[in-house]
Amino acid sequence: MKNAWQDAITDEIATGRVFSDPVDLVGYRRDASVVPGALPELVIRPGNAAEVAGALTAASQRGIAVTVRGAGTMYAGGAAPARGGIVLDTSGLDAIVEIDTARGLVIVEPGVRFGRLLAELAALGLTIGIVPSTAPTATVGGAVSANALGAGSPKFQSMGDEVAGLEVALADGTILRTGSAAARHAGFFQRYCIGPDLTGLFIGADATMGVITKIALWLHPLPPARETWCLGFPDAAAMTAFLIALQNRESLLDNLWYAAVYDRAAITGRLARLAPEVDPATLPPIALGLDMRGETDDIQRDQARILTLAAAHGGSRFDLFNARYFRTLCLDQNFWYSFAGYFTLSRCAILMSSLPVERLPALLDLVQSWRERHPQLVWGVGSILCRRGLHGGVVAFYDEARQWQEAQAVIGQCAAELSAIGCVPYKSAKLWAPQVKGYTEYHAVLTAVKAALDPRGVLGPGNLGLECGTEGATGEFY
Ligand SMILES: Cc1cc2nc3c(=O)[nH]c(=O)nc-3n(C[C@H](O)[C@H](O)[C@H](O)COP(=O)(O)OP(=O)(O)OC[C@H]3O[C@@H](n4cnc5c(N)ncnc54)[C@H](O)[C@@H]3O)c2cc1C
Repeated sequence: MKNAWQDAITDEIATGRVFSDPVDLVGYRRDASVVPGALPELVIRPGNAAEVAGALTAASQRGIAVTVRGAGTMYAGGAAPARGGIVLDTSGLDAIVEIDTARGLVIVEPGVRFGRLLAELAALGLTIGIVPSTAPTATVGGAVSANALGAGSPKFQSMGDEVAGLEVALADGTILRTGSAAARHAGFFQRYCIGPDLTGLFIGADATMGVITKIALWLHPLPPARETWCLGFPDAAAMTAFLIALQNRESLLDNLWYAAVYDRAAITGRLARLAPEVDPATLPPIALGLDMRGETDDIQRDQARILTLAAAHGGSRFDLFNARYFRTLCLDQNFWYSFAGYFTLSRCAILMSSLPVERLPALLDLVQSWRERHPQLVWGVGSILCRRGLHGGVVAFYDEARQWQEAQAVIGQCAAELSAIGCVPYKSAKLWAPQVKGYTEYHAVLTAVKAALDPRGVLGPGNLGLECGTEGATGEFY
């Protein structure tokens, strides 16, 4: 049986798209993160932007929390409800609205999954710039809201950089279009126009500022050829010097779609299983996996230039790692760089941060110290190269039944230690909330923007350290 606020929300959504039975709610309690969630009271699956706007208006008027969920693959708790309220599931918003080859962009609803979008675009010889490793299941809306990276990052940086404009439902039900699409009759084609970039307010925002209902992404020609290869370096300092040189030779990144750093544990751990005959002492202690796409001639030319640059920093080809691991992962497994095959325990806690390249050795040292201090968790680290800077992913594998609380506590500690060496929260949501709150001026302005857009603080409660507004705190549901 529903109560009055649940009836009001239900009135805004088509029949069959509202769920209140505990059996239907239980799967919405958490996302892929270590963050604990709360059972929602209602799940809605709107079928269009008008339904999203109607539900937000009704929720805002009553101070009911709204947590937005795409596929729930995020590892920072963004899609885990901080307290009951509503979960807005975007899977009903799954139209590929338009593939506009004249303007060079594709417009999609947020619940579209990358796997489907990539397949449809590939049939037309097209692709998009950034694809997270969870592409088969992750939604475009979740990736924009979390500002995903991964395949495409050395060339294009991150998801936000590939967004031409957005349509967003605000807490009061207003439907906002950003960039050129704010101008009537213009449509999406320019992001930076009219005035300040409002698109950016919703990227990396973890649903705190609005619910994205349409996304315009830049299209790119599908590169005709692809080649993976690996480099090994004598130590982290040599690899770091090479990465700095590589980023400063920008044209070398033009055909580089993915580059990931593997530390000694990652190399020996993988090869112990895939190449048991090899003596680990003969392996380089640090490696870079590279995935190049483009014209065959361009790839060959850039490979030769990158190899020369690597050699100048003590690096050389690491063909074994490519043949036994990296190539298989990227090409045979269709380039989903997941941690699959690396899972040793039931779950993983992932902590992602951005760092300037020169901090890579400090990050690796820190992870090594956690391995020594917390040997009961299985530690992994992988850094993904972007056009500028690195994204460092630290992974702690743990046994859900026995070690959940311990993993939460340790990951919280790790976030503080990463901050201390100059790493910056990335995929912040709830996991990094204490650090985000600590950036005093930034957080004060963020809070003011939030108050203007969502005065009762109903959207994405708890994400980015933004608490619900005072009115919301005393609202009928909280
Ligand atoms: C093993 C593993 C590997 C991963 N690899 C990568 C990787 O390579 N690169 C990467 O970037 N991430 C990676 N991730 C994290 C995650 O998969 C991505 O961030 C993904 O893009 C999230 O998409 P989703 O649909 O699951 O979003 P969700 O997890 O459902 O949501 C993510 C955030 O976006 C918000 N949100 C969702 N939809 C909307 C909307 N329409 N409007 C406003 N806010 C919204 C949610 O509230 C939440 O805060 C990985 C995760 C795992 C578990």
